[in-house]
Amino acid sequence: MSKRKSFEQKNNYIHPTRKKIIDTVFGREDNTQRVHGYEGEVDSERSVGEIWTDKEGKTWEQKEGYKISVSQMDDVRQYLEKLSNCQAEDCNTIQYSNADKKLIRKTGKCATCLAKEESVLRADGTYPFYEDYKISNNQLSYVIDLKAQFEEALKGVSQTLEFINEDGTIQKWHYDVDIEKVKEDLQKDIDGATEAIEALLERKAALEDKLRELNHPELIKI
Ligand SMILES: [Zn+2]
Repeated sequence: MSKRKSFEQKNNYIHPTRKKIIDTVFGREDNTQRVHGYEGEVDSERSVGEIWTDKEGKTWEQKEGYKISVSQMDDVRQYLEKLSNCQAEDCNTIQYSNADKKLIRKTGKCATCLAKEESVLRADGTYPFYEDYKISNNQLSYVIDLKAQFEEALKGVSQTLEFINEDGTIQKWHYDVDIEKVKEDLQKDIDGATEAIEALLERKAALEDKLRELNHPELIKI
């Protein structure tokens, strides 16, 4: 199997934030193979770090193994900048504490704005649904990660594994286990995870309907 393919497969399961960054860098849009600003091969005439302008006036920077348009890099920087600032329109926090910074990364809002938002949601009865929605989303990404791990394991499992030692010699390990049974168990885990994902997606959709009904569509995450 080519490295490129395994990168694509892994990319389906990485954390949404990292995926967003990678997609922005490579100019990809979700679930499409549309690729621009990316070339699998290193442009052999360019050295890493070199910046040049093509005949259409677009500025590029050569990275290790790919080139990226400079404006795309600006998008990434802007996106990262956004990730480290409180998203609340009426935020008055001047300096973020460490707790604020953590909360902003996790929720998009600083502690003060989050508390304000939660008291509004508690007052209008939305909070329990919102809480449930957040938990469902967390569980969903957990199970998706887990399924990816099971799938990786199933691909890699074999009776004999080879390890390359530091000195370059190869060490072979033979496992006295029933590999077919291990594979069967892994497949069961994968099937279980698939079912859980389906159930969680349904729950997520139902809670999104509820949040819309309660006039809080802004709480819905993509
Ligand atoms: Zn704030």
